[in-house]
Amino acid sequence: MARIYEQAYFGDSLVQFADAKLSVASSAVLYGMSVYTVFPIHIDDQGRRVAFRLFDHYKRLLTSSRIMGITSFEGRWTEERFFVAVQDLIIANRIKDDAFVRVTVHLDELVPGVRSRDISSTLSMFAYQAVPILPQGGARLKTTHWRRVPDVAIPPRAKVNGAYVNSVLGKQDALDSGYDDCVFLDTAGHVSELSAANIFLVRNNVLITPAVPGDLLEGISRTTILELAKDLGIQTIERTVDLTELYVADEVFASGTSAYLAPVVEIDSRKIANGAMGSVTRRLYEHYHALLRGKDEHYSHLVARFDQ
Ligand code: PMP
Repeated sequence: MARIYEQAYFGDSLVQFADAKLSVASSAVLYGMSVYTVFPIHIDDQGRRVAFRLFDHYKRLLTSSRIMGITSFEGRWTEERFFVAVQDLIIANRIKDDAFVRVTVHLDELVPGVRSRDISSTLSMFAYQAVPILPQGGARLKTTHWRRVPDVAIPPRAKVNGAYVNSVLGKQDALDSGYDDCVFLDTAGHVSELSAANIFLVRNNVLITPAVPGDLLEGISRTTILELAKDLGIQTIERTVDLTELYVADEVFASGTSAYLAPVVEIDSRKIANGAMGSVTRRLYEHYHALLRGKDEHYSHLVARFDQ
């Protein structure tokens, strides 16, 4: 299990992680009414702690709140306040290794019934050791019989805690069959994403990923990979993807903050190409890890740097 750092941010201040608690009667606990994001902390060449696309993660909390009709978050937070809270958390915990930070906006009113507007919320933040959720040397996937929850039911575009029940069903199904993670199809039977990562395939040197109206999370890493590929002169297409296209792909990989960029070597007992990381995946992998650590000048405007 990943080690959790001792100090958490809860409400308006730093507290001991063990004291960051919600009531069992809160909307967050009763209905999963919280929205969240996870962003990475890395150490750059100067030993400085950095967070790639920190403000995109903040924006995602806002858009998730907006979709869910959570009105008590947006007015009380700003990018500046968010940055200071993250910096306080990093300094208080003396983070010196790669870490993930999970930030959640919890609806904490007690027994409010099933609604969202004008209900009080609390923000929590905690940091933990960056243990990737997928094997970085090659992941094995199973197409689950559970379908990705559609936008018209629980929008996957919002990163809402309650929706992760769907991810748990898919992932556990895959784990029970001895795989690392699941491939979710959408209700129309097209490839959507994994339990907590987006999916890409390469065919004839073209990088393809399911388009956003495919009941998937608009992953921040997904956006980065698409931008990076364009910069490297790799053709990219966002479109509907059939499951069997994955079977015959030259390369498949998953992307996500906690998955990084994980090559996929097997799906449904079918080896992908020769079962090793492909050359396009490798190029993207190397550049991606460099930019996360602030080593790529071209992307340095997307890197938040913290005081020591
Ligand atoms: N899809 C789902 C369902 C996820 O939970 C995640 C992880 N946040 C992703 C995709 C990847 O998103 P990101 O690159 O923003 O971490």
